[in-house]
Amino acid sequence: MPEENVHDTPVSAPKINGQAYPFTDHTYDVVVVGAGGAGLRATFGMAEKGLKTACISKVYPTRSHTVAAQGGISASLGNMGEDDWRWHMYDTVKGSDWLGDQDAIEYMVREAVPAIIELEHYGVPFSRTEEGKIYQRPFGGMTTHFGKGIAQRTCAAADRTGHAILHTLYQQALKHRAQFFVEYFAIDLIMDEEGNCVGVVAWNLDDGTIHRFNAKMVVLATGGYGRVYFSCTSAHTCTGDGNAMALRAGLPLQDMEFIQFHPTGIYGAGCLITEGVRGEGGYLTNSAGERFMERYAPSAKDLASRDVVSRSMTIEIREGRGVGPNKDHIHLHIEHLDPKVIHERLPGIAETARIFAGIDVTREPIPVLPTCHYNMGGVPTNYRAEVVTLKNGSPDSVVQGLMAIGEAACVSVHGANRLGSNSLLDLVVFGRAAAHRCVEVVKPEEAPRPLPKDAGELAISRLDRARHANGDMPTAALRLEMQKVMQSNCAVFRTGEVLQEGCDHMQRIWAHRDRIKVEDRSMIWNSDLAETLELDNLLYQAVVSIESARNRQESRGAHAREDFPERDDQKWLKHTIAWAREDGKVEIDYRPVHLQPLSNDVQSFPPKARVY
Ligand SMILES: Cc1cc2nc3c(=O)[nH]c(=O)nc-3n(C[C@H](O)[C@H](O)[C@H](O)COP(=O)(O)OP(=O)(O)OC[C@H]3O[C@@H](n4cnc5c(N)ncnc54)[C@H](O)[C@@H]3O)c2cc1C
Repeated sequence: MPEENVHDTPVSAPKINGQAYPFTDHTYDVVVVGAGGAGLRATFGMAEKGLKTACISKVYPTRSHTVAAQGGISASLGNMGEDDWRWHMYDTVKGSDWLGDQDAIEYMVREAVPAIIELEHYGVPFSRTEEGKIYQRPFGGMTTHFGKGIAQRTCAAADRTGHAILHTLYQQALKHRAQFFVEYFAIDLIMDEEGNCVGVVAWNLDDGTIHRFNAKMVVLATGGYGRVYFSCTSAHTCTGDGNAMALRAGLPLQDMEFIQFHPTGIYGAGCLITEGVRGEGGYLTNSAGERFMERYAPSAKDLASRDVVSRSMTIEIREGRGVGPNKDHIHLHIEHLDPKVIHERLPGIAETARIFAGIDVTREPIPVLPTCHYNMGGVPTNYRAEVVTLKNGSPDSVVQGLMAIGEAACVSVHGANRLGSNSLLDLVVFGRAAAHRCVEVVKPEEAPRPLPKDAGELAISRLDRARHANGDMPTAALRLEMQKVMQSNCAVFRTGEVLQEGCDHMQRIWAHRDRIKVEDRSMIWNSDLAETLELDNLLYQAVVSIESARNRQESRGAHAREDFPERDDQKWLKHTIAWAREDGKVEIDYRPVHLQPLSNDVQSFPPKARVY
């Protein structure tokens, strides 16, 4: 529990529709919004350096989606065969289909090694090799010698790596006495007239009070927005609230058309079966029992990059070679593996398959289907985690007082397609980078920029509107409509026509926000109200994602246009930057991709064909 300030007397109470919303004010050096892997790594890094740091989370920290990460975290430690950070850099650039920024990628893969050793020292219980080193498994797209061999680069704690990391980071944050505001729902950023971020407004779900945080730096670590789809591997809390807060603050999001479908979600349930399963020797078959990945990716086969495997599976199903009575899914086999390997390395998978598909993985294949898994797009930042925007014609101008990290951010290290195990790495490397940068720019002895006169009014007017929503449609019904449109109009394969139809549907759904009905007006543990705010956030991201997808007339990484099947570096080697207006209309511009690495003596990887 927070130790100070929380029960301070409210300082002011603006009225909306005759209702007073008293504010309780807090002042911090840094406020981190989100307590997943990224948020916690940043929080304790700041607190460790003596910055007065608060961390706000809408769920208990160790329930953040990071806890569900299974397969592992990449770093070229070379514990189980030769490895080199340059090979990791090449794989990440190629995996990103050359849309990743090479300065940020160089930073991430080089910092990976010390960041993992640090995690080990903090107490993450990694699996071990015979000699007692950190165990590393092969993962899709991770190679040696610039694509020639298969690397064992992904450090794992069995198939519960995220769980191990998240719990360790939370303990570190408590140890360094960061102040937690748990089950506080951040509603909106507070921006001043010059466009600097000066704080954030949050609603305490437990007692219904409203809190204004004035800070020298706000760090968005709010995770992805997988719940914009009908079928996804992410938790119900993954609604990308920070992304929507940035949009409402007049800031753009970057590369929102790039959404990763994981090849192996459990058919019907959506729960993830980690790629680590294929890393340990699992493989996919179609209705003829054929290991079809050998046709699509002759060398990497089942361990090709995720977008490639998801598309291959979709083609097999479309061409009538799916399995099951409706020929609408694919089989994943691990029954040939030694039960000892399953027990030691994949215990969670055996359990998930039993519960969600009713099968015994030592005897039968797991029914799987590509499922929405990760958002490459998000709040654009530089490699120091500072939010950038197109201002005064400069593609790299920094927004003062605002950072973004983790899945909410677009650094961009994943470009058009993320490699498995590079996200957990992104969380710790850029969480740490944010802490390093804050130590340089945040001065504990100085006062924060003052809050503007109307600070917090945008947030409470939205809250009040949601509380009094009195239409004819439950929030869940409108959410379902949005999720179905994303699922059918913005999926693994896309065409201009289908995307245009999706954009039209989405505008109609946007207009239906006025038809929402919220039954319960209370401010205490009102999940209907919280879900209504989350739906609003999802809708902001849905319009931006689908418009960005319609706009990009090429195929790159996870964005596969059947009407533009080739990658077009001439026209489209650039990041999409998109703003959403209050009426749901989207404006689009571009930023150049950083093809130049950070260090002068590091080789850049110019675009070439991407085959596995
Ligand atoms: C099932 C699954 C398995 C995965 N496996 C792997 C893997 O093996 N390796 C890998 O590299 N990647 C993996 N990923 C991806 C990776 O786990 C995620 O990208 C990553 O955990 C996201 O971390 P985060 O810190 O950005 O956000 P999250 O862990 O999602 O945390 C978000 C935080 O923000 C808070 N928050 C959000 N909105 C608000 C708000 N309005 N107010 C207050 N707080 C808010 C939440 O409470 C939470 O604390 C996996 C993802 C899934 C879904």
